[in-house]
Amino acid sequence: MGARNIDGKAIAAAVREEVRVRAEAHAAQYGRAPGLEVVLVGDDPASQVYVRNKERAAAKAGIRGAVHRLPADTSQQALIALVRRLNEDETVDGILVQLPLPPHLDAAAVVDTLDPGKDVDGLHPHNAGLLLADRPGLRPCTPSGCMRLIAEAGLELKGKRAVVIGRSNLVGKPLALMLLAQHATVTMAHSRTVDLAGLSREADVLVAAVGRAGLVRGDWVKPGAVVIDVGINRDDGGQLCGDVVYEDAAERASAITPVPGGVGPMTIAMLLDNTVRAADALAVR
Ligand code: NAP
Repeated sequence: MGARNIDGKAIAAAVREEVRVRAEAHAAQYGRAPGLEVVLVGDDPASQVYVRNKERAAAKAGIRGAVHRLPADTSQQALIALVRRLNEDETVDGILVQLPLPPHLDAAAVVDTLDPGKDVDGLHPHNAGLLLADRPGLRPCTPSGCMRLIAEAGLELKGKRAVVIGRSNLVGKPLALMLLAQHATVTMAHSRTVDLAGLSREADVLVAAVGRAGLVRGDWVKPGAVVIDVGINRDDGGQLCGDVVYEDAAERASAITPVPGGVGPMTIAMLLDNTVRAADALAVR
């Protein structure tokens, strides 16, 4: 195997430690630690695990907070009322509404209600617009984590070809914009893309954010490319795996993220980073 394994667990631990130090400095300067409130509606098992992990990681980083666990039949009105209350609460710096919401709720309307300054998931259209305009703002956590991993892989993006497979608002689209801001030449690919394999072979940085085990084969990888695997899937044996056939891709890549232990741990680390950023910005707003 030729590629260097990009250790997301270790890099996330370093980010969380940086955040802890900044949270401590924030508390010393403003008399209270940054505060993150998470809203969880319903009992989706995966969401419950994510939220518990976020809660634990926040506490370790010196970020205060609470989880609002609401029943699955919560009304749109009640959810929006809670978000408005958190918007108004001066002790709250970050608000995260765990997605997906139960199908009867309108997630876009809930996200639109968030105070953009407290939108630590970076999903409010205001923050999406700031990203598009290449201006400072709260950025979505998973793509920010990917950018940090690429930086840690030591890749200078200027002039490089980047291919991002997947165009969701959560991952693919914002990541493509972040790569563009770093002067990569970016192509966004999706389910209607023709000759995905050939396109992928042109990439110096290949990102897979699809959700299909085994989609990206080893021979899709340009020799020496950096491969970032965002996908989270279960293989036939029930094991967690990404979108990339890791062993084969690692034969050709110069650096590659594993699943688990790659992008996943970075998402929570960047959420904590955003919370301290939000707290610092709100303190002078
Ligand atoms: P999503 O909203 O379902 O988007 C998937 C994207 O993949 C869509 O743009 C879709 O294209 C594209 N796609 C589907 N099949 C394809 C194919 N055969 N060839 C090329 N493109 C194809 O998913 P998401 O929220 O972006 O998440 C993507 C994956 O990342 C999932 O596995 C998710 O679990 C994982 N994820 C991981 C983290 C983490 O922290 N590690 C965070 C978020 C998401 P169309 O637009 O044409 O339909």
